[in-house]
Amino acid sequence: QRRTLIAGNWKMNGSLTANSNLLGDLLAAKIESACEVLVCVPAVYIAQCDAMLSKSGVALGTQDVSAHQSGAYTGEISPAMLADFSCKYVIVGHSERRAYHHESNELVAQKALQALRSSIFPIVCVGETLEQREAGKTNEVVVAQLRAVMDVLDDGALARIVVAYEPVWAIGTGKTATPEMAQDVHAVLRKTLAERSEFAAEKIRILYGGSMKPDNARELLVMPDIDGGLIGGASLKAADFLAIIAAS
Ligand code: 13P
Repeated sequence: QRRTLIAGNWKMNGSLTANSNLLGDLLAAKIESACEVLVCVPAVYIAQCDAMLSKSGVALGTQDVSAHQSGAYTGEISPAMLADFSCKYVIVGHSERRAYHHESNELVAQKALQALRSSIFPIVCVGETLEQREAGKTNEVVVAQLRAVMDVLDDGALARIVVAYEPVWAIGTGKTATPEMAQDVHAVLRKTLAERSEFAAEKIRILYGGSMKPDNARELLVMPDIDGGLIGGASLKAADFLAIIAAS
């Protein structure tokens, strides 16, 4: 049985004060949930959040990582640097990075590979644009995005990734995929994984992301292949994030 993962992606939001308030509110709530709770924070705040979360049940992650281990890559942050803190997960291939920073499927795959080499679990994001959905290309797009990562990982490494299906048209728009639409894509992703490794396919959690809110979380999370959520806007408000955790 896969343990539900509720992950917040703070994106480029926060400050020392805001982070302290938000995490303070989450910790004060004394979350009693069977699910795993994670916050993916901007890299500059990893040290601050690590200090606040170290003795808590809330896991720490961040939003991007270099595809290289060290060296002359100005501005980049290596997986080993993340591993210096209690950073357990890193998001790779978020659609905002694919779109605004021109990250290819191959680069995203390298980031996932290098993260795993430093024992950090990559959360591999896949998702189609509205144009691609309307052209009937959803499955083709997400499968190609996933396969690029599968191609660089052996079966053991593959079983350690998390996948997040985030339809681009649902991110930050208030438009959510219906539970059935999301389930259909999640099932395609799991079938793709199973073609390589039944073990990995059973073990890998596939999260849904895109305008997940307290009022739609439950109907999404009850679907058989939806194993959690990757939450943007609603993860910035403690009450909303806690309500999603409670719905899981
Ligand atoms: P929203 O929840 O704000 O739509 O963002 C989803 C997302 O991109 C999480 O990575």
